[in-house]
Order: sequence, then structure tokens, then C-alpha cells
Amino acid sequence: MQIEPICFRGRRFWILRDDLIGGEFNGNKARKLAYFLNSNLANRIISYGSSQSNAMYSISVLAKLRGIKFIYFTHHICDFLLNNPCGNYAAALKNGMDIRISKNPLKSAQNECKSRDIFIPEGVAMSEAEMGFQDQARIIVDFAKKNDIKFDIFLPSGTGCSAAFLAKNLSDMSVWTTPCVGDSHYLKKQILALDPLSKVNIINPPRKYHFGKLYSEIYEIYKELLYSCGVEFELLYDGVGWLTLMANLNAFKNDILYIHQGGMLGNITLLERYKRKFNI
Ligand SMILES: *Cc1c(COP(=O)(O)O)cnc(C)c1O
Repeated sequence: MQIEPICFRGRRFWILRDDLIGGEFNGNKARKLAYFLNSNLANRIISYGSSQSNAMYSISVLAKLRGIKFIYFTHHICDFLLNNPCGNYAAALKNGMDIRISKNPLKSAQNECKSRDIFIPEGVAMSEAEMGFQDQARIIVDFAKKNDIKFDIFLPSGTGCSAAFLAKNLSDMSVWTTPCVGDSHYLKKQILALDPLSKVNIINPPRKYHFGKLYSEIYEIYKELLYSCGVEFELLYDGVGWLTLMANLNAFKNDILYIHQGGMLGNITLLERYKRKFNI
């Protein structure tokens, strides 16, 4: 079952379990990269971004599956990670990623890219990503029809690519999101760049959360969801996502469908940091 109900704090939520998409790929990165799994691929893949990113790891899986080289530019790799490779970073290295340090990762990636290479922007926010969300939208529409449910859909955003392309492929369900990286103006700009007519609704988190920083209430809601519903969510995006959703329940008129976008490998490094910071 791809969509399942959970009961959290006495209320029913539906969860689309994209974290369980099979194989090494999962979550929204699997949706975003679906196009490249079946397309005529170039020589090498060139990308850039953070050294702990789920997109980086997912591209390394794609490159391995397709048997091509993957070069990734990043600004820095922290000492902890260099000395204790783990999570997305360790897994991407194991898949053969060639990681390079640059003061300007975007520029270095662009310069590295030759005509037969493929350039994947940070977070895979690009038009080719839409294909996977057409499938995702179909799964949601089929389930809603079969069970006679109307959903309000919620998912937390980084680039906004997942929210934009899901909403673009749904006609009569509303899609809601919240910014986890940057503010709502930045997110709106990103979404409109991918779909100028986008109807995605943006709500703000209950307070300002800096991306990648640790917050006790994020760990608390992560643990509460894990123990009371038996579902592990991701700490960076879903932590802010659930806090925002629970603070805005009045905004939703229909059954809420929360998209679980995977990214569990990233939790390994984050849980380490939470343990060290809060002594848990
Ligand atoms: C990448 C990622 C996001 C952000 O997706 P966007 O399409 O960039 O908004 C959200 N949640 C998880 C778990 C992710 O890995």
C-alpha cells in the first residue's frame, strides 16, 4: 500500500510512503531522477551542492546504475565528516562519486560541464524532474477516487520542485508547503520559475528555523511520530514540515495527505549530531 493512514495526536493523516519506493533510490529524489533512469544519458553527470545532501547521494546511485562518471562540487567538507564518513556522503563515495572542493561550486560545475555531459542543478530542480511527479499525481488521484476521499496535500520544501510539479499535475486537489531552506519569498520565486501558473499554497513555519541547525522541538516531534505511529520521518525537512502542519491544522478543510519524501540516510549524521548536542 503506497498510501496509508496514521493517527497522530488524535487526528487521522494519510501518508504517501515514497520513502518505501524500492531499490537504492527513494523519496522525492527518486521521483526527480526517474526521467534520467530511462533517458539517453550523456558522458558524465556534473552537479554541485552540500556534502551531506540527499540529492548528491541519489545522483550517485543514478550514475552507478547507468555506469557513468559523477563529478560533484561542494564548498567544504566538515572535519567530522572527513574523519567519520557516514550517511549520504559515505554512501555516495562508495558509489564512485568524484567529489571536489570549490570556492564557487556552481561556477566550477558549469565550467566542468562539456557538451556531452549532463548538468544537474542543486536539488535536481529542473524541468526533467516533472516526469516522476506525473506518476506520483496519478497514484494520489487513483487512491482518492477509489476511496472517495478528497485530499489537501502537504509536503515540506527545499527548492519547491516537488511541490511545484506535483501541484501542476493535479487539477482538483490543493497542495500546501512550507519553506525549510530560505524564506517564503525565495520559495515562491523558485516555484514560479518551474511553473509560472503554480497554485501551490505556502505557509510559514511557526518560527524561523535555520536549515541544518538542531532544534529540540524537531527532535521531539520526530520521536513522537516514530513511537506513536511507527513511521520514521526525515529530520531536516519533515521536522519543520510536521511542526508547521500541526500549527496550521485549521487551514485544511479536507483529509490531509502528507508526502513522505524519504531521505532517511541523512538521518544518520543528524541523529549523531542531536545525540552530541542534547546528550540523548
Ligand atoms: C530533497 C528533499 C526535500 C526538498 O525537496 P524539493 O523538491 O527541493 O522541495 C524534502 N524532503 C526530503 C526528505 C528531501 O530529501
